[in-house]
Amino acid sequence: MSIKLENVSHSYANEFTKEMVLSNINIELENGKIYCVVGPSGSGKSTLLNIIGGLLHPTEGQVFIDSEEITNFSQKQLADLRLNKVGYIFQNYNLIPFLTVKDNILLPLRIAKKNISEYKENYEALMKRLQIKDKENAYVYQLSGGQQQRVAIARCLIIRPEIILADEPTGNLDSENTKKFISLVQSILKDFNTTFVIVTHDERLCDYCNQTIRIGDRSIEILKK
Ligand code: ADP
Ligand code: ADP
Repeated sequence: MSIKLENVSHSYANEFTKEMVLSNINIELENGKIYCVVGPSGSGKSTLLNIIGGLLHPTEGQVFIDSEEITNFSQKQLADLRLNKVGYIFQNYNLIPFLTVKDNILLPLRIAKKNISEYKENYEALMKRLQIKDKENAYVYQLSGGQQQRVAIARCLIIRPEIILADEPTGNLDSENTKKFISLVQSILKDFNTTFVIVTHDERLCDYCNQTIRIGDRSIEILKK
């Protein structure tokens, strides 16, 4: 799906600060592309990601998803958007330790009250693609770091998201697994109709993205490859 931010600014203003985190941002993310968001710690990368994914309403400006303005969506509409179209991958994976691999992957379907049998084919395809079928009944602590990440990716893909938001997805991976992650992302883009937004400290990832969004001190720079 495509996302457009028009004159978006955000401030977590409270009694202590009125500081703007993001100021007058205009960007357009196209379907089928990989975007990298880089910038120093505290520059607003996660804030931007949350706005793009409908987790946070910006204090100013408009957000459009496939030409539909979501800035005025109700909490219910935003929740529906997140449950049905947005997939997340976190640095520490956020897997549930007392659930098996299978139950972790099916969790988003259960939360969204979907009919799980309709997703059986997608589930099996993901287990095969991510090479975790033999770990289906294992618990998270029995998996290596690379395997945990693949479970997190399967959980993200089970709903067939139209946009995937990844916050420091390679933060815990060695360079071998980082390379595997990138080729996985590229193969996912080919097969799923989706957009990938990656927030990262790892500048190496930018080489594999279609565009880099660099957030600086009150500035944003869009670099095309
Ligand atoms: P980054 O992801 O680049 O590290 P963030 O978007 O997490 O940056 O944070 C940007 C700024 O906004 C930081 O100064 C942070 O302290 C502040 N901030 C983030 N979330 C909140 C919040 N919920 N309430 C108040 N301030 C916040
Ligand atoms: P990686 O190179 O992917 O980080 P590891 O060396 O961490 O791999 O793990 C190698 C293998 O050992 C993996 O197949 C993993 O499933 C298994 N393994 C790792 N930790 C445990 C554990 N605590 N209990 C059972 N199996 C484990």
